[in-house]
This record gives sequence, structure tokens and C-alpha cells, in this order.
Amino acid sequence: MNRQTKAIRIQTKKTQYREHSTPLFLTSSFSFESAEHGKALFDETEDGNIYSRFSNPSVQEFVDKVCMLENAESGLATATGMAAVFASMAGILKSGDHILACRALFGSAHQIITQILAKWGVTYTYLDADATEADWEAAVQPNTRMIYLETPSNPGLELVDLAMIGRVCKKYNLIFNVDNCFATPILQTPTDFGADLVIHSATKFMDGQGRVLGGVVVGKEEYIAPIRFFCRHTGPSMSPFNAWTLSKSLETLELRMEKHCQNALKLAQALEALPEVKKVNYPFLESHPQYELAKSQMSAGGAIVTIELEGGFERVSAFMDALEIATLSSNLGDTRTIITNPFTTTHSKLKPNEKAALGITEGLIRISVGLENIEDLIEDFTQAAVMSAEILVS
Ligand SMILES: *Cc1c(COP(=O)(O)O)cnc(C)c1O
Repeated sequence: MNRQTKAIRIQTKKTQYREHSTPLFLTSSFSFESAEHGKALFDETEDGNIYSRFSNPSVQEFVDKVCMLENAESGLATATGMAAVFASMAGILKSGDHILACRALFGSAHQIITQILAKWGVTYTYLDADATEADWEAAVQPNTRMIYLETPSNPGLELVDLAMIGRVCKKYNLIFNVDNCFATPILQTPTDFGADLVIHSATKFMDGQGRVLGGVVVGKEEYIAPIRFFCRHTGPSMSPFNAWTLSKSLETLELRMEKHCQNALKLAQALEALPEVKKVNYPFLESHPQYELAKSQMSAGGAIVTIELEGGFERVSAFMDALEIATLSSNLGDTRTIITNPFTTTHSKLKPNEKAALGITEGLIRISVGLENIEDLIEDFTQAAVMSAEILVS
């Protein structure tokens, strides 16, 4: 059976009510059948739920589905994607360790590496997304423990060669940690390339409907165990309600991703043909500098398209305000199309040189392509591009 089929069929054991859809275990704690049972659960001679900060059936069901989709041994869920990113590092790294990372990172991941872990004596080195295997090898230090990356990256849509990083990690015995949020396990499974840990902001495509926050880390039990210990005692647990919502969402993930990717490719192609749009960036456009790599490690290009407009913030503003369908919001991965100007919102706190290194210009617009009718989206983006171009002549 296919992983997707197995994931859809995973569900908590049926209760005496014979429910078909999964029940929600909205409970903070679990009762013990006897004093002896409570003792056995705590000294771990018996398996079972104790308290929802440690484990909960609704949360476990969500984790089991993600493990199935990502081809991973085990995992745990967190309250947000950032809690997952942080736990995957803080649960494993210690003072004196070194982390190698690709520069093209989600803003808060960059803050964790450069501000928070750095404060506790974990050092780092950044490499560009197009660094060669020799560059990565040269950056490995005797105290390097982990390579961390995101592919495709937010918002630059830069790719890192997963097979290459897999080789480097194997050769130097490093933990290979990938944020797979943009691709989802439907388009790319990093464990196939040797990833030890895979992270998601479940807030994005996993929920896919802009309702709940969540995060998940899956991978080898050897590395999940210390992360689980870290989370059990520091408490960034996922709410059972959010897990219940996310678990059902995963059952339509493949279907949604297929349509997201079809819409995104069509919109990217339509915008690339418009003289009013300076540049379009999408992994599955032949003009993408890493098109061949994208084709080799992803089954489709994803739902995020970025465009660049001439005319500074005034033009960007006119374009964004002229759109009738897309929502102006900083989130992504929704059924409804969302646009944002990273320069003035999500990445506004980066220093000018950091923005430049990541290609975050004033005229950059990130489009999270939704599931609306594609003809309607193309028409809306085209009229906004043409209308806002008027300010360039006047
Ligand atoms: C949104 C996002 C995160 C953070 O997730 P939250 O659920 O908002 O905490 C991490 N990585 C990527 C790539 C993201 O897009």
C-alpha cells in the first residue's frame, strides 16, 4: 500500500461508540486504574498516557500520520513550527557545538541560530544555497554536529541539493535537519536523501486552511528521544484540538497540493509573459536557476511564486491594493491566495545587507497561490500588474 493511503487510514483505536471520524481527546490528564497503574506509568514499566504535556491520543494520531508520509521512524508535535525548529536544535546541541546552515532561512530560524543559540555558546556558519559540495565540506569543523536547511526557502525559493547534503552529513557524521514546510511530504521526502530530522510548520499547508498553529519534528528515534525529553520538560506541546484539526487536514493534503501546484505553475507562466512584471521566480519554471535540481528532488514546484515589480514601494503598494481576490496577509499555505511584501513585513527586521544576500528587494512580492479558479486568479493579477504599471509612466 501507498504511504498516502496508509496515512489516511491511521486513526486512534475505536471507542465503544464505534465512531467513524476520529474523536477529539480534549483532556489535560488521564486517570490511573489503580495506584499500582499510576506507579507503573511513571516508572515506564507500562506504556500509556499520563498528561497531555507528555502525550495525547489526538496528538499522537497526527504525529503517526506525518511519520507515515515522511517515511520516518518516530516524531513529536509542538505548538508552532518555530517550537519544532527550536526543539530540534536545543534538544540536541550543547554549548561548544557548531551548526552549519544554509543562509536562506525563515526569519525566526535565523534569529534562533544567530541570537538565541549563540548566547548559549552554539556557534554557526552560513553557506549560500548554491554552495558546492566542496564548500560545505570545507565549512565542517571538528565540533560541527548538525546541518540545518530549508528547501525551497522562504521567500527566495532557493533550493539546496538534498542528495549532496546527505553525502556530506554521512561522511562527517553530522545530523541532517530539514525544514520541509514549503514542499510538504507530498512533493519531497528528505528522509529519502538521508535526512535524520524533518520539521514542519503544520500551520501552513498541513492545516492548509489558515485555522490553527502547529509544528512537528519527525525522524530517527535516536534523535527524536532527546528532543522528546526537551519538550516533555519545557512544555511546547501541541493542543489536542489543533492536532485533531490537523489530522483531518492531512487526509486531503495530497489532493490540495496537486491543485496548489497546478494553479501556481499556471499563474507563474501567465505572469512571466507579462511585460509589466519584471521577474517571476518559481522552481518549476525553466527560467529558475535551479530548475534541473527542482525537477530532480521535487515532484512539483509548490504553491509559492514570487514576482518582482519595478517602481519601488509605491508600485508594490498600487499593485497590492488593486488586487480584488488575494488577501494581504503574512501567512501562507491557505486555500485562499495570499500576498505579502517581505521587505516591509516578514523580513523587515533583517539588516540591509542580509536582505540583499537573500534577494529580498523592495519590489519583491510573495504569492501563496490558493485553490481558487485559476482563470480568475490570472485575470486578477494581470489587471493589477497592468493598472499599477501606470504609475511608472506618470
Ligand atoms: C511559517 C514557517 C515557520 C514557522 O512556523 P510557525 O508555525 O509560524 O511557528 C518555519 N519555517 C517555515 C519555512 C515557515 O514558512
